[in-house]
Amino acid sequence: MATVEQLLAESTALAGDEAQREAQVLLCAALKKPRSYLVAWPDAEVEASAAEHYRHLLAQRASGIPVAYLLGEREFWSLTLRVNDATLIPRPDTELLVEQALKLDLSPGASVLDLGTGSGAIALALASERPRWQITGVEHSPEALEIARTNGKRLGLKDVAFHRSDWFTAVRGQRFDLIVSNPPYIAESDGHLSSGDLRFEPRSALVSGADGLDDIRHIIAEAPTWLEPRGRLLLEHGFEQGSTVRALLSTRGFTAVASAEDLAGHERVSSGVWQGEGLC
Ligand code: GLN
Repeated sequence: MATVEQLLAESTALAGDEAQREAQVLLCAALKKPRSYLVAWPDAEVEASAAEHYRHLLAQRASGIPVAYLLGEREFWSLTLRVNDATLIPRPDTELLVEQALKLDLSPGASVLDLGTGSGAIALALASERPRWQITGVEHSPEALEIARTNGKRLGLKDVAFHRSDWFTAVRGQRFDLIVSNPPYIAESDGHLSSGDLRFEPRSALVSGADGLDDIRHIIAEAPTWLEPRGRLLLEHGFEQGSTVRALLSTRGFTAVASAEDLAGHERVSSGVWQGEGLC
């Protein structure tokens, strides 16, 4: 029987700087044990069935399948979210959007809409921090919607409403104090689409027209119809799209337009306030 240490040495099957860490994560999954077990028991012998499961995961990872899809989950904010290949894999970049939303001085029962919620990451992170906000997540893909609902139930965040929607269609007649979104924003021709995890993620959650801005343009154009007076729109976007997104927001009539930087120092989230018709 192979030991923990010997199995971890098989991480050479994986490419990249993260190989060792990924092998640890996959071995933990196969053993159903925490990471500390690997450190404490390098010489422990691993059951044949668990070793086989691990090697299967390692081979799938070596073929490029993202770790999050192999495990069926990903940590986001303080939550463990179910994910599958119908959903984008929640990223640390998007935690910036959550942080920015939490900084806003909204009323205790504020209404919030998450457009294109995917696994429900943003909506559920906000709900976990602001239980009294009235949060709705909408999603076009029925498979992703199913995952978002499952996540809401598993995390005990049952008050978040999830609806199938083509952007705003399912919330007709409603107005929100805050609209947030991590929409698709990658250009069709972007070479990154054929590398790394992006190859396995749903194209509909990644790609948005020739310059990546089709959906962002649509959301900015439409959002005022769905915002309360002084309501705010908060959007994640590509690291080089900040100035364009700010210009789109200003041209549409948003005020207090600003961007926030991610950990890498890139403008990643932009926002604006809608004063309301006739109020500016
Ligand atoms: N942040 C992702 C990336 O650039 C893309 C996510 C998106 O299009 N919303 O890898």
